[in-house]
Amino acid sequence: MRKIVPGIAIAIAFAVGPPEGGHQATLRAQAQPDRLIFIHAGALLDRPGQAARGPSTVVVRNNQIDSIREGYVTPAPGARLIDLKKEFVLPGLIDAHVHVFSDDDKMRARLEVINRDVEDNLLIGVDNVRRTLEAGFTTVRDLGSDVHSVTALRDAILSGLVPGPTIVAAGAGISGPGGHADSSNNTNRDTAAVRRTQATNLCSGADDCRRAVRDQISQGADVIKFTATGGVNSNVAGGLGQQLFDDEMKAIVDTAHLFGRKVAAHAHGEDGIAAALRAGVDSIEHGTFTSAATNAQFKQNGAWLVPTMVAPHAALAQARAGARSKLTLAKAEEAVVAHGENIARAIRDGVKIAFGTDSGVSDHGKNAKEFALLVKAGMRPPAAIRAATIDAATLLDRASRIGSLEAGKDADIIAVTGSPLDDVTVLERMRFVMRQGVVHLIDGARQPFPAN
Ligand SMILES: [Zn+2]
Repeated sequence: MRKIVPGIAIAIAFAVGPPEGGHQATLRAQAQPDRLIFIHAGALLDRPGQAARGPSTVVVRNNQIDSIREGYVTPAPGARLIDLKKEFVLPGLIDAHVHVFSDDDKMRARLEVINRDVEDNLLIGVDNVRRTLEAGFTTVRDLGSDVHSVTALRDAILSGLVPGPTIVAAGAGISGPGGHADSSNNTNRDTAAVRRTQATNLCSGADDCRRAVRDQISQGADVIKFTATGGVNSNVAGGLGQQLFDDEMKAIVDTAHLFGRKVAAHAHGEDGIAAALRAGVDSIEHGTFTSAATNAQFKQNGAWLVPTMVAPHAALAQARAGARSKLTLAKAEEAVVAHGENIARAIRDGVKIAFGTDSGVSDHGKNAKEFALLVKAGMRPPAAIRAATIDAATLLDRASRIGSLEAGKDADIIAVTGSPLDDVTVLERMRFVMRQGVVHLIDGARQPFPAN
């Protein structure tokens, strides 16, 4: 498989014509005519943050947007026409915080997790990413998964082998032993011994943390995640405060930046948020106990906040139902109250917000439920949509390819009925999904894959 997949990846990448082109791409292009699709959009939000357009035509050539034209343009001979005259068309959504292999069937998962192999989780992930894509999320950032599984799935999607969103992968989150991302926490001694031996993501001391970052990068990580504080769902007693020392966080951030990787810090407690911001992280995930002081720090550093507002509600409901460790309940109750208020203040204070859900804690494919919570916390609908398009693309360093619909960008296009600028909940009912020129959903119905 390792030998075959890269070959297929190269063939397909050239078949759809990457932006860099090249000699082989030219040869291939001569052999196969361009695939043209004309989309008639009733309304078009091509650049979130600006006004929506009226009736428009989006011309898609292979995997990219060729042009955007006013009114309904008659398709060129041989081109496919997709009629979205009754729909509102916008760029594919981006979720900056998911865990693609985490099973959202919580009760079953709690019972079965110890019996599962990595292969079981991989196949669960294949289903999760398809649901995510069909919910209109054409790009996700996975912030904590087995690095081999997530890079394999990422590459299979890029190759067109399985349907799913573009994945920006962190691999396993870096953590101190006993910290939020230590999978040996509170397991029996045999399990703990094996997990400790296999873990490459645990580190103590600045040098060891540099090593842990390099390990994830060497195995294919696009971005680095670390856990600055305790977590609601980690299987240890204790609070949500800082869990790595300042010099360890600095070592993680500097090593990642040295390799051109952005850094996301899981952080709940104010001390950990402040320390991660001092260390120079690019984004804070969750941000439960932000304050006026940390909000000023965010703005000074240009760091992003990824609120994941659906997550604490989901974790609390699961803990109350007995589907989480007993150690979770107190932490979830504490977090859920503070989170709503503090995210609202961060929005008022003008902290940059990028959309993320922590799906895997909440249900895959219901990512769009986050929009209503962001609006409830004080974001205007156009800003909430920006957070899930242009702004998330900027955080992911991909704004030149995704986040808006412009000539030369990826043809990641979705549509809903009704205007999400008036009511963001229409985004929970996806009608049309195209990713890199391939149609996955029309009239809310799954399309054959691979496309004919
Ligand atoms: Zn997470």
